[in-house]
Amino acid sequence: MKITFNGAAQVVTGSCHLIETGRTKFLLDCGMFQGKEELEDLNPKFTFDPREIDFVILSHGHLDHCGRLPYLVKRGFRGKIFATPGTIDISRLILMDSAQVQEEHLKTENRKRLREGKELKELLYTLDDVFDTFDHFRPVGYYQWYEVNGIRFKFYNAGHILCSEFVELEIEGKRLIFSGDIGNHGKPLIRDPEKPPKGDIVLIETTYANRRHRSFEDSVKEFKEAILKTFERGGVVLIPTFALERAQDILYILRKMYDDGELPECKVFLDSPLAISITQTFRRHPECLEEEVLKEFKRRDLFSFPYLKFTRTVRESMKINDVKERAIIIAGNGMCTGGRILHHLKHRLWDEKNTIIFVGFQAEGTTGRKIIEGAKKVKVFNELIAVKSEVYTINGFSSHADQLQIVEWLEGALKPDSKLVFVHGEASVMKKFKPIVEEKFGVEPIIPELYQTVEFH
Ligand SMILES: [Zn+2]
Repeated sequence: MKITFNGAAQVVTGSCHLIETGRTKFLLDCGMFQGKEELEDLNPKFTFDPREIDFVILSHGHLDHCGRLPYLVKRGFRGKIFATPGTIDISRLILMDSAQVQEEHLKTENRKRLREGKELKELLYTLDDVFDTFDHFRPVGYYQWYEVNGIRFKFYNAGHILCSEFVELEIEGKRLIFSGDIGNHGKPLIRDPEKPPKGDIVLIETTYANRRHRSFEDSVKEFKEAILKTFERGGVVLIPTFALERAQDILYILRKMYDDGELPECKVFLDSPLAISITQTFRRHPECLEEEVLKEFKRRDLFSFPYLKFTRTVRESMKINDVKERAIIIAGNGMCTGGRILHHLKHRLWDEKNTIIFVGFQAEGTTGRKIIEGAKKVKVFNELIAVKSEVYTINGFSSHADQLQIVEWLEGALKPDSKLVFVHGEASVMKKFKPIVEEKFGVEPIIPELYQTVEFH
């Protein structure tokens, strides 16, 4: 069996691994490269002909795992895409949004390129390609063996986002475990990741393999203090957030604060059409919720409370600018590289009364990363904006396992003769994690380069 790493090799983006056996070729994920322009430029490149791919196994609905599926279809892929029903629902929303965002972005980008005399860029795919992709999805529930082209696979709960899965595969007598993204323990809405079965080959994500998260409880405490402090000085709290999972976690925490009388009277805006739609998806997939939350869900809605307003239209979003104090604005995107959060940054970041709370991963080169690294000014819509607001980074809300949790998961997956492969992490993080794994498990991890092929015998 051969694996060629078409993404997420020494980077945290573009997850796409080609598996080739004597009988079949298939992909684990087909995600999009995001972040730096050099990375985004890699999106059209595959080391294979999409027409020869028999099927895809998709681990979850994040864009860096599902984002190139429509491009695969556009290039002639005719097979099935297997995922849990919840992952399929989420992927549909994420892909439609992605096509729209790309189209808007490209219009502006090409206007610039035209003026600079540069060659115009092409869209990776359109909304039509996204709709074509929907026909390829096939739902497969957790814990059922499924066989296709002589490959057997089974999904387990990865505890990363709603209905995310890691997968056990039987390929030519070998057992391969693909972690997808492994979740952080103690998240409010979904169940913790499961212990994996032992694998001959184990592909493990390493996003946060170099750090320890603060506990969820401590993070909630810090979050509450940040809000109260901001309200005391008459400010507004901005929360740039991923539309998927983190936005719902934050809403759920705020609703609990309201229930417990801990949230002073204020206005809370979920200013993201995508996050609003995904919140509905949570309501449609109670089977993926944590047990206590599921009980609660049977009695009442998980997210609604009187201060909360969903602002779907641009007009409603613009009206938020009139609110001068005691408000919480939750808007995408999570790394401040686009989306409605940019308008709010322009409007509020320069004012020291306000606060910006980062609750998710900030990739290198993004505006979010610049702010948390202490930039005095950042560029928003080609205008320099002073960073005077108070800045918080609360990493305990992360959807990714930290170092201890990854090690714990590997304890389940590794045997003394397992082949271990690091994927989905920055090169510097993998380098730090390598000696830890070698000492603990006596297994030397493989750290593939992008587009490298590794043979397993
Ligand atoms: Zn993910």
